[in-house]
Amino acid sequence: MISPFSISGLPKIIFGEGRLSDVPELLQSLGKRVLIVTGGRSFRASLHWQGLIDALKGRGLSWEDMVVEQEPSPGLVDQAVRVYRHAGIEVVLGIGGGSVLDAAKAIAGLLPHGNSVMDYLEGVGPELPYQGPSLPFIAVPTTAGTGSEATKNAVLSMHGPDGFKKSFRHDLLVARYAVVDPALLASCPPDLIAANGMDALTQLLESYVSTRANPFVDALALSGLGYVREGLLDWYEGGEKAAEGRAGMAYAALLSGITLAQVGLGSVHGLAAPLGAFFPVPHGVACGATVAEATEINIRALEERDPGSAALEKYARIGRLFQGKNHVDNVAARAFLVRILKEWTARMNVPSLGAYGIREADLDLIVANCRGSSMKTNPIVLTDGEVRGILLRCL
Ligand code: NAD
Repeated sequence: MISPFSISGLPKIIFGEGRLSDVPELLQSLGKRVLIVTGGRSFRASLHWQGLIDALKGRGLSWEDMVVEQEPSPGLVDQAVRVYRHAGIEVVLGIGGGSVLDAAKAIAGLLPHGNSVMDYLEGVGPELPYQGPSLPFIAVPTTAGTGSEATKNAVLSMHGPDGFKKSFRHDLLVARYAVVDPALLASCPPDLIAANGMDALTQLLESYVSTRANPFVDALALSGLGYVREGLLDWYEGGEKAAEGRAGMAYAALLSGITLAQVGLGSVHGLAAPLGAFFPVPHGVACGATVAEATEINIRALEERDPGSAALEKYARIGRLFQGKNHVDNVAARAFLVRILKEWTARMNVPSLGAYGIREADLDLIVANCRGSSMKTNPIVLTDGEVRGILLRCL
């Protein structure tokens, strides 16, 4: 029996090498005055930037542009809203990694009102209901990891001892168009490919075994995981099949955003929030550093406390997918999955948490702050001791 489920809104998706060239026409269909949000370096230094600017001029569009150089804070979003609120902006274009896309998404959501994003962030502040409207937003990813081009949330971080990493989330924030052009990923260095690739892999894996999973999302997650298996190492290691791997990862990351937005995530993303808030751990690294151990502990906890769980069967199915063999029993397939996650983490030199100054004495703080929305859809409720155990193995 299929349990009832619903699928919330998706952007119109435009995928393929060179599709950045569709953006000027899409912008023109949505307004005459654009706010362009980009990262600090790679895109602006590329020929793509000049081509975009020329095309906007050619279509008579005017624009303001701003730069987001790190994972965005509520202060950055509020400041941008103050600066551009009366600049006649009709449409927002974000071209960059998850940081840029999240900042642009939040700014688009707030420009029509001028309210502080702190009014709406989950788990901090008054958590007022967001009622829109949002300005139309076009998302163009330049990393293959977060899937933010397809999600309804913007992750905002405040760093330091009172830090947090929380979402501004609403269906109205979903991009009008997600333009996924794998050519824009060509400048990603190997450490970024690894961290983002492990983020996408984790998002697909966690949404596949989420307590809210459904067959529609399962199909997407499996499709994405197949492309991760085929493409991530090829792209990371370069060589003949690198471009194919890169396009596969752009697709997988897009799917990971769709699946996470529909059914949520799990313990890795529960941990990524305090890891990123209290320590300078980039989001993708937090995922890559913990996914193997978190998966192993989830599987062990399920085997001990909920052996009939559908998630156990699903972990085995992913193990068989990665092994490329159908006739492997469930226990062996799950062990293979954990082994491959550990191998990939080592092969792509994903740093350990200790590399960011995290010590055993810090673990209680992380455990105490890991039970946000992602942890709630983990396939089994982990004890604090189990969560601490994940972290301890990742130092
Ligand atoms: P990022 O956007 O922070 O970028 C990391 C670095 O890579 C930056 O220095 C950036 O300038 C550079 N970069 C980006 N594209 C490049 C390219 N093509 N070539 C060379 N360098 C490039 O990293 P990210 O991992 O894409 O995004 C992380 C953020 O996304 C975090 O804040 C995380 O919490 C958030 N996130 C959001 C969602 C969501 O659903 N909204 C999901 C997962 C993660």
